Amino acid sequence: MTSMRLELRTSPRQQVFATDKILEDEIILDIHGPLRLRHDLATPYLEDKHLQVGDYLYIELDELTNGINHSCDPNSAVIVDDVPHVFLAALRDIEVGEEIVYDYSVTMFNDPWEAPCTCGSTICRGKIQEFRHLPEAVRKRYIALTVVPKYVLDKMKGA
Ligand SMILES: [Zn+2]
Repeated sequence: MTSMRLELRTSPRQQVFATDKILEDEIILDIHGPLRLRHDLATPYLEDKHLQVGDYLYIELDELTNGINHSCDPNSAVIVDDVPHVFLAALRDIEVGEEIVYDYSVTMFNDPWEAPCTCGSTICRGKIQEFRHLPEAVRKRYIALTVVPKYVLDKMKGA
């Protein structure tokens, strides 16, 4: 499965690669899909292919988007501009053949799902968890990059 600039490979494992050079701040992908409420999803990230985009709101991801892996040192970020306008943007230049990755934690709030991380980055946190559990320096970095969704920022202020 491919979009214009991305290719999903499923062997040896599911990964998405750039097939074209992508420049910093470019929108890589518009993320569309059916919206689902949290209470309809027993374990939103684990059971199905869902991305949190609001306090109680998730988008069901298509095969390509769901194939994009997590990294603690990501080259892209999901931007939740205004539901349902959600897109993936490049955080730096991405070369042809480079795997596309984003940090799953940035859009996660009040979601108990967590998983061990095997991204292999030198700054790997070892675990994928919701935003509020990230080290403060990492949270500040994402906030400075303006990629943290409003529903997460609002909750952090109230916390
Ligand atoms: Zn990691």
